[in-house]
Amino acid sequence: GKDLELVKITKRYGDTIAVNAVSHHFKPATYACLLGPSGCGKSSTLRMIAGHETVSDGSILLDGQDISRLPPAHRGTAMMFQNYALFPHLSVAENVAFSLKMKGEDKRNRLAKAGDMLELVDLSALAERFPHQLSGGQQQRVALARALITRPQVLLLDEPLSALDPFLRVRMRSELKRLQRELGISFLHVTHGQDEAMALADEIVVMNDAVIEQAGSARDVFNRP
Ligand code: ADP
Ligand code: ADP
Repeated sequence: GKDLELVKITKRYGDTIAVNAVSHHFKPATYACLLGPSGCGKSSTLRMIAGHETVSDGSILLDGQDISRLPPAHRGTAMMFQNYALFPHLSVAENVAFSLKMKGEDKRNRLAKAGDMLELVDLSALAERFPHQLSGGQQQRVALARALITRPQVLLLDEPLSALDPFLRVRMRSELKRLQRELGISFLHVTHGQDEAMALADEIVVMNDAVIEQAGSARDVFNRP
């Protein structure tokens, strides 16, 4: 795993300061949850790390290297979105392998790696299906496999469970936790649910009003085990 360090990152949208000189060090191979009310700057922070949004100021270091000006595909990060954004006309396996196709890997390699990823998220049996033939939870696991196939050092998840029913949400939680442990990489998971953060996180980072207010274990942050 690798260290992720935010050094005074700021995001401005016109007159709005969405993220205000935020600094934080995320340890390697950690499940971190970024928790806070709607509008406090969580998504902007995540999108700056992913490279889907430019930083207005500051830098982002992965293993000491400043990645804040690199294109998303070259950062060692990958993002999984709330709406899974699968390609409807591609099979599950093709969806998972898509980024490798963009990188010019040959078909045999792509499909082999997609197969490994589908096994990892327990979807091997559904490789030939199309997104509309999957349940919400299955689509989400495809989206996870699609993000993980790029072998990121840091997986960024923006409210990944909010579209799921409560039963699936709890199942996906353990699935996410298992994957993070198994891969030994860092997950940075944005949520506004305290219960979600408490169930998942090695470290909870609490944002409010564009800054980090508090960070620590669930015990530190909520004063409970
Ligand atoms: P959160 O993820 O915690 O809900 P966001 O990062 O989405 O917070 O938003 C933080 C602030 O930045 C909010 O005031 C929001 O309205 C504003 N904001 C977010 N994205 C944009 C944008 N693309 N253009 C203008 N303002 C934005
Ligand atoms: P959500 O609405 O996202 O499901 P809740 O606010 O309902 O999250 O809280 C979920 C869980 O977190 C509940 O079990 C609740 O008891 C616990 N909880 C909520 N607020 C606190 C707090 N300030 N300190 C400790 N535990 C809390």
